[in-house]
Amino acid sequence: MRKDKRRHASPASWGKRILLITLAVLLPLGWFLTPRLAARMGLDEANGVKIVVLNYHKIENLHNSLSVLPEDFDRQMRYLQDNGFHVISPAELHAALAEGAELPENPVLITFDDGYQDNYKNAYPILQKYGFRATIFVVTSFLDQALPGYLTWAQAAEMEASGLIDIESHTVTHGSMTELSDEQLRYELAESKRDIEKRLGKQVEFIAYPTGTYNLHIASLVKEAGYKGAFTIKYGNVDAASNLYALERVPIFHTANTYRSFLERLQYVPVFEQLGWNKS
Ligand SMILES: [Zn+2]
Repeated sequence: MRKDKRRHASPASWGKRILLITLAVLLPLGWFLTPRLAARMGLDEANGVKIVVLNYHKIENLHNSLSVLPEDFDRQMRYLQDNGFHVISPAELHAALAEGAELPENPVLITFDDGYQDNYKNAYPILQKYGFRATIFVVTSFLDQALPGYLTWAQAAEMEASGLIDIESHTVTHGSMTELSDEQLRYELAESKRDIEKRLGKQVEFIAYPTGTYNLHIASLVKEAGYKGAFTIKYGNVDAASNLYALERVPIFHTANTYRSFLERLQYVPVFEQLGWNKS
């Protein structure tokens, strides 16, 4: 191609051409796929087909990225309440993905990783105020002050008994799973599940991958250990194309303007999802 002679083909116009070609390919696919996805999710097409899984760590008055201020967390929960969001449980998400069960409009899951003490002291009262359910993925060997700053089993039990909080697994030691042997993986998966079940008298069915690392082999071991689903830190919304053992989440961090970041992340839908593009 003699680019030097094509004076009128500025970079901007090439950009437009590429965009138009891309749209020409994607739009028909989108029209083809979107109704099928919507039908499978039992959702109105106009409402979009997405489940937002919010991912928090700490709720405390510290200025670092993992610590959302309690007042910011309160404001975010109020936003969900005032704007037609419906908080669902991991079991409801599973039923929708695995069995096509119906979900309320604008479904959202609230999740916390690691099991910090402040989840009980700061987040739990705010969740109670709004009547919102949430899931806390605990690292079982960190509880009872084995490491400072983490929940006690008594606090975990109290929250679980309230019916508002689901305590689920984040493994025994929080090791990055891609660096563990199969024997270690099986131990992390089975022992954390067994420990929570024994102490809280419940079924543990979900796990969040520590540090977000996983692969197909790890996912197969998670399934084998009896979990119904696993959450990643892959950024995105869950929909009918999601894999139950690689569920997307939307992390919420403390930023210069935490509320604005929250709103942007809550409303952000990648272009390929708007077009109904199958993410797998
Ligand atoms: Zn973690």
